[in-house]
Amino acid sequence: MTGAGGFIGHHLTNYLVDRGYWVRGVDIKRPEFGSTRADEFLLLDLTASDNSLRATCEIDEVYGLAANMGGIGFIENNKAVIVRDNTLINLNTIEAARLNGVKRYLYTSSACIYPGYRQKETNVAPLKESDAYPADAEDGYGWEKLYMERVCRHYTEDFGLDTRVVRFHNIFGPFGTYDGGREKSPAAICRKVALANDGDEIEVWGDGEQTRSYCYIDDCVEGIYRLMRSNHREPVNLGQDRMISINELVDMIAGIAGKRIGKCYDLTKPQGVRGRNSDNTRLREVLGWEPVISLEEGLARTYHWIAAELTSHKTAPSRQLEDVA
Ligand code: NAD
Repeated sequence: MTGAGGFIGHHLTNYLVDRGYWVRGVDIKRPEFGSTRADEFLLLDLTASDNSLRATCEIDEVYGLAANMGGIGFIENNKAVIVRDNTLINLNTIEAARLNGVKRYLYTSSACIYPGYRQKETNVAPLKESDAYPADAEDGYGWEKLYMERVCRHYTEDFGLDTRVVRFHNIFGPFGTYDGGREKSPAAICRKVALANDGDEIEVWGDGEQTRSYCYIDDCVEGIYRLMRSNHREPVNLGQDRMISINELVDMIAGIAGKRIGKCYDLTKPQGVRGRNSDNTRLREVLGWEPVISLEEGLARTYHWIAAELTSHKTAPSRQLEDVA
């Protein structure tokens, strides 16, 4: 598994180990929170092709989760670095998988591949997989994802590499990064609410009316595994199809925290598309399943984890840096 030191990769490692799989985790860093349960963990930079060959040798299935990524603030301000790193990581990994005779390769795409012209209103129609074209993906990050989806199709058609492509819609949960600039909206809002006193205001990016759907991490790893076991080679959405505004998200988290929280709006901050939701018709058809954990339940688990982290952080020792090949 590439990106095994990241948020989804860390959870997916646990899921697969619990089911008896032998897992090799690969990343430029170890998991930020907790230690990995991977049977083997290699610190490798996958932008180098020889490292990708090492990462995928004697492996049956590759889950490709490595990416240079973050929330909207990060992806809007680091486009060149993101497309450079992610193109290298993903092309190197799929080519190495082919050369090493890997049987199945899963590529982690994103709702960011969907065209901007379908996401201009807060009350948007849920996005179906076929809505991806004519293409107008999120600049930088989204275009690389869409391009790699095509690469997967070409590797299947021309080289016979069996591929799976999943399009995530805002995955959140414990063990996800919650500060430092790469965090996503649920984690950032949980952090702000946890640090606020009862009656305080927190900063919201944009006017807070922008809409999204959010999927809890346990459903995400279940969906990834089910897709990998399916015979479906076309891209599939993986997310919840319950759309809420950022303002509603703040209110929900404040309710979980038991605090009265006001909002002040920073209209200069990036807010991404105006509205986005997942159409789960294909997900249900292909997997015979859909995410089951409610937003309230997922946010409660996430909020309490972040609040506890913030409390314990003050006394935690600083993490050590390690050499990466
Ligand atoms: P993450 O940032 O937590 O994990 C990505 C991991 O990739 C990190 O641990 C990072 O160190 C590693 N990485 C970066 N550069 C590397 C390199 N050169 N070599 C090896 N490893 C490298 O992100 P995540 O949320 O776990 O996302 C996993 C995948 O899912 C990514 O492909 C991401 O684009 C995709 N995705 C995630 C979401 C989401 O909501 N979390 C949404 C859409 C798509």
